[in-house]
Amino acid sequence: MVPLSDITEVDYIWKNGELVPWAEATTHVLSHSLHYGSGVFEGIRCYKVPDEDKSYVFRLRDHMERLHRSCKIAQIELPYSVDELMDATLEVIRANRLPACYIRPLVYRGYGVMGVDPTGAPVDVVIAVWPWGAYLGAEALEKGIRIKTSSFARMHVNTLMSKAKAAGNYVNSVLAKMEVKQDGYDEALMLDTNGYVCEATGENFFIVRNGVIKTPPLTAILDGITRDSIIKIARDLGYTVEEQLFTRDEVYYADEAFFSGTAAELTPIRELDNRTIGEGHAGPVTKALQAAYFKAIKGQDPRYGHWLTNYKF
Ligand code: PMP
Repeated sequence: MVPLSDITEVDYIWKNGELVPWAEATTHVLSHSLHYGSGVFEGIRCYKVPDEDKSYVFRLRDHMERLHRSCKIAQIELPYSVDELMDATLEVIRANRLPACYIRPLVYRGYGVMGVDPTGAPVDVVIAVWPWGAYLGAEALEKGIRIKTSSFARMHVNTLMSKAKAAGNYVNSVLAKMEVKQDGYDEALMLDTNGYVCEATGENFFIVRNGVIKTPPLTAILDGITRDSIIKIARDLGYTVEEQLFTRDEVYYADEAFFSGTAAELTPIRELDNRTIGEGHAGPVTKALQAAYFKAIKGQDPRYGHWLTNYKF
């Protein structure tokens, strides 16, 4: 049976400066963004520190700065500063007494204008939080997932703006995700309009060959905050990381491949297009990076302490 909802409801959602009861955080059906995808959003995680009464929000400032950049690209006037959005995030987590959660800020054009031109539409800002486990399944983090190249290309750099985490960009992601899920795969690998490997529907992509880590450059992808974290961690561990274009056949004979993302964290890939990657399970580099990443998010590596916003529940 398909569950009606995979969202665990909590008490409050922050909306336009106030905490409102979960069920009352609604919007008018004629909101501009609902029709034209003109909103922008973020995805952030808050992790509990094992055996302690505290939690850390991972790279909160960086996410809120990206939200501001997304608004700039989309020409949305965001009425809250980065610091105000950070405070609001902590306020809503605290109000819901959540030790660990996923955080979804959304800036959208609300009710008042129905033409494509959004000029004059009000800007609404919400921050929702709820408990959310491993995005691609708990087993995926261990065993790795099976992926397939999507027949849908990622957007051309002048079609939609990949550096904006814009709602409309996810029409492309949803098409690709549904296509591969219906064929029995866990996630889609998307190519850019020149045919180079790009990213997934909600994750950045890495391969490893002969100990060297490769990831596509920022050209046509989202500037992932997990991607950035993994690159830094990998370099600190002494690995060479190259940001360069490559093709899907290079992935077929890679030793290892994995996705990075706030929701997916660091998920190993065991198969692409029915070709086993490496040994068919998480390889040594993937495992080392995964372990280092999980230490970083839980505050167990002082080198990355500046990425964490402390929150006591
Ligand atoms: N690419 C896309 C298309 C995404 O939706 C995401 C998730 N935000 C990512 C990459 C990974 O970004 P991050 O590590 O900042 O979550």
